[in-house]
Amino acid sequence: MPKTAIYPGSFDPVTNGHLDVLKRGLKIFDKIIIAVGEHPSKKTLFSVEERIEMLKEATKGMKNVEIEHFSGLLIDYVKKKGAVVVLRGLRAVSDFEYELQYALMNRKLDDSIETVFIMTRGMYCYLSASIVKDAASLGAKLDGMVPKMVEKRLREKFRV
Ligand code: ADP
Repeated sequence: MPKTAIYPGSFDPVTNGHLDVLKRGLKIFDKIIIAVGEHPSKKTLFSVEERIEMLKEATKGMKNVEIEHFSGLLIDYVKKKGAVVVLRGLRAVSDFEYELQYALMNRKLDDSIETVFIMTRGMYCYLSASIVKDAASLGAKLDGMVPKMVEKRLREKFRV
């Protein structure tokens, strides 16, 4: 049975930290579906379509990666896709509490689905989509933080 993992997130926008987790996840799983979510309470800078476009560009040439939009309950989506694993990245301790809560909630909803965490590389430990947006809005250079085309999109958004 091929092992498929669902990698859910906002990816607003995709960063090199996200991509690092994806690449390392591909060494463990046969296929990874990046599920671009919409939180009713979370306002995003980029639309779902824009976020998917950037992810498609950033993963061009990578095998066994799919990108989809999802809404609703994650666990239902995971089952619909025939996957058994939810993949998430972990940075500092600050991620842990939220991720633990999220993983335990999903386990309560369906005990057969596991959440697997991949620890970030030290160099991406500080990196988040939010900090990238803040820095971009002030005209900072984003070398090594996001793919070049994402940096370009951010500049266009903020007109900097
Ligand atoms: P969400 O809104 O669901 O937290 P994000 O797009 O912010 O979605 O993140 C998606 C996943 O990628 C999360 O598991 C997050 O912890 C992980 N992630 C984000 N940035 C990094 C990074 N720099 N290194 C490793 N994992 C990361």
